[in-house]
Amino acid sequence: MPTAYSYQRGDDAQIEAWIVEGAGRLGLSELYRSAAYLGSFQMLDLAGTATRDQERAHKVRFPSAARLRRASSLASLTVGMFQVSDAAIKRGNRPQVEGACRCAGTGWFEVCYDPDEPTSVALESCAAHNPSGHMPTPVRVFA
Ligand SMILES: [Zn+2]
Repeated sequence: MPTAYSYQRGDDAQIEAWIVEGAGRLGLSELYRSAAYLGSFQMLDLAGTATRDQERAHKVRFPSAARLRRASSLASLTVGMFQVSDAAIKRGNRPQVEGACRCAGTGWFEVCYDPDEPTSVALESCAAHNPSGHMPTPVRVFA
């Protein structure tokens, strides 16, 4: 796909051919991995919690921001053209983070909102490793 490509009505077959070509070049395993890294990075970036290590890994994986924007935009159009499989939805719900995460994979990290009281910390959920913000609690049985 040319980076400067602009969608035109009737180009669906060409877009499909580019997707198939790209998937063939990368291989499905790498395509799935890159999609998972992108999805998780976008969640962290939107939350404003991506680390420099994650930003660096993202830029190595996707060196052209313009091309990534263009490809992502066209890929989102295909969601309406094709049925998304249950396996793809499951893959999309599994975070994969490249680079050190603030939560170290635990789903939580400490944040201090009061600069005058550095010991006052709150737990914040990681947008990639714990997007629902659900905190597991110990199961207790009351009899
Ligand atoms: Zn995390």
